[in-house]
Amino acid sequence: MKKRVMIIAGPCAVESREQIIRIAKKLKELGVDALRGGVFKPRTNPDSFQGLGDEGIKYLIEAKEITGLPIVTELMSIEQVRRYADKIDIIQIGARNMYNYELLKELSIYNKPVLLKRGLSATYDEWLNASKYITNGINKRVILCERGIRGFDNSTRNVLDIQAIPYIKKNTNLPIFVDPSHASGNSYMIYPNSVAAVAAGCDGLIIEVHDKPDEALSDKEQAITPDELAKIIRDVRKIESILKENEEL
Ligand code: PEP
Ligand code: MN
Repeated sequence: MKKRVMIIAGPCAVESREQIIRIAKKLKELGVDALRGGVFKPRTNPDSFQGLGDEGIKYLIEAKEITGLPIVTELMSIEQVRRYADKIDIIQIGARNMYNYELLKELSIYNKPVLLKRGLSATYDEWLNASKYITNGINKRVILCERGIRGFDNSTRNVLDIQAIPYIKKNTNLPIFVDPSHASGNSYMIYPNSVAAVAAGCDGLIIEVHDKPDEALSDKEQAITPDELAKIIRDVRKIESILKENEEL
């Protein structure tokens, strides 16, 4: 039987101790399963906010201690993995690093879940081969994450490839998560993308949430509020129960 859809939520970036702890407490109340927050940020523009780095990890760990929420954050180098693999609960490998095979090989030696984002224009084959760089070692705990692929229309940030969900389900034994935030880049699209992804059978969602989206230091256009997340969680649970009834038929 299918497990409950996992909800990972949190700001694009950890911006301050106060910000991440405040948001983590709100998310805990909503019943999310894990807290996300970027501290090493792979920004397209080198002059944009790059994240708090080591200081940010400290705040994220503090947010975990206070709320009990497991933490998810992106690591971008072998050195960061060596330093932090045992301190965080799920290591996120960003779309820009899906082809960084040396980094993936390093992850293969840990027994630690890795959320492997699909590359910006990666084919399914390239993505699955990237996952094998990790699972060829002792680490079998890869979670694939569809986060939108490059399309031809720049009205939205990317295009959410819903078909990735049934494709990954049919062709692998790995869980498939969806990131509706980077897929669309627009806060009003997070609800429809999330419910569509769950209806299509995804195993989890990772969603950017900020309690003051207008003040977010990165990706503010796609940030939703905790209230909006609450509606998504409510409807995700409804869809899951319909899927479960169908399974039982
Ligand atoms: C992120 O999740 O903050 C992020 C940068 O995602 P992606 O690697 O999918 O662009
Ligand atoms: Mn982001």
